Amino acid sequence: MSKTVFLVADGMAGWPLDILGGRTSLHAASTPTLDLLAPKSRCGLCRTVPHGMPPGSDVANMSLLGYDPQTHHTGRGPIEAAAQGLTLDQDDLVWRMNLVRLTELTDAGVMLDYSAGHISTPEAAPLVARLADMAGGTPFQAVQGIQYRHLLVQRGGALTDAAELAIRPPHDILDQNIAQDLTAYASFPEMLAFLQTAHEYLRAETTSEATSVWPWGQGRPLELPAFAERFGLRGAVVSAVDLVKGLGRAAGMEVLEVPGANGLIDTNYEGKVEAALDFLQRGEFVYVHVEAPDECGHMGDAALKKRAIELFDQRIVAPILAALAHEDATIVVTCDHFTPVARRTHTEDPVPFLIYRTQAPRTDGPNVFNEDTAKGAGLFINDGRELLTFCLGPDA
Ligand SMILES: [Zn+2]
Repeated sequence: MSKTVFLVADGMAGWPLDILGGRTSLHAASTPTLDLLAPKSRCGLCRTVPHGMPPGSDVANMSLLGYDPQTHHTGRGPIEAAAQGLTLDQDDLVWRMNLVRLTELTDAGVMLDYSAGHISTPEAAPLVARLADMAGGTPFQAVQGIQYRHLLVQRGGALTDAAELAIRPPHDILDQNIAQDLTAYASFPEMLAFLQTAHEYLRAETTSEATSVWPWGQGRPLELPAFAERFGLRGAVVSAVDLVKGLGRAAGMEVLEVPGANGLIDTNYEGKVEAALDFLQRGEFVYVHVEAPDECGHMGDAALKKRAIELFDQRIVAPILAALAHEDATIVVTCDHFTPVARRTHTEDPVPFLIYRTQAPRTDGPNVFNEDTAKGAGLFINDGRELLTFCLGPDA
């Protein structure tokens, strides 16, 4: 049976930049493998973020995995809870909880860093453990994740107004005032009290750059129809980030663990490739997610983003292609959403994709692969979940 591989570089697409001579990071990057594939591939654009939904990786990756976010998306927190296999009640409300750095937790406060200086997991673990203790006797349960990404479970919260609080994702408000979010938190006094307790503790604890927690992306527990039944494929995901693992786990896919996969530019690329290829011995679909280009976009670092894309080409796409070149395989290269360096956050622009069939290469693809050439290829998939169906069908 043929194999299908999705190679997803988070936030890879972007907008043209003056410092790159009017090119995007993807365009400016040296990507010999993508440029080799492009002429032999079906390229186009895909709308992974439905109109009116926030352009988050949670929404966009759900689309790429073939599920309609408008039906299934309840929030980012619930997806990451699925990754951890947390036991939840239907009425629980699950928040993503970032460790962040603020100037202060007042209406004059400013969001300085959504990642608390990219805090490491060993640094973060004791802090979150202590926060969990401090939440004793409240409806809140702090749950450790990785790096700056943790969870806050609010028992019975789905039945309260807290489910509706509009808190902005911290990576969207870098260097911005936080008064509007504090006002929203304050409408739920137990939440504000928890934030204040956490802030006092973290400010006094000078071992890290974290000064506060920032709960957001809340929702009811996630439920997805099984991937195997929906698409008739045994599938797996490979990713360093909890939200992709959570989507996979909720869809009943295998979640392949790779030591040293960390979501940064020095991730274990070879380990991810090996895990994906190993799975294809027993399955038909694998989704390989690389986080680094997105992180570089958030950092506003054009040169580093370009480098992250080059490493993706060289250490993910190239070895996957080499291993599958003589098998019956469909290799799809895309990203979940744009993370333009100039914006330092996600946008909802439709994403470029490339579909290469090893046994049926095309001859009419673009010379190279980037945002412009994908758009110029003329194929537009308006409903993101249809990209997977399209790739499995005869027309790709
Ligand atoms: Zn991002």
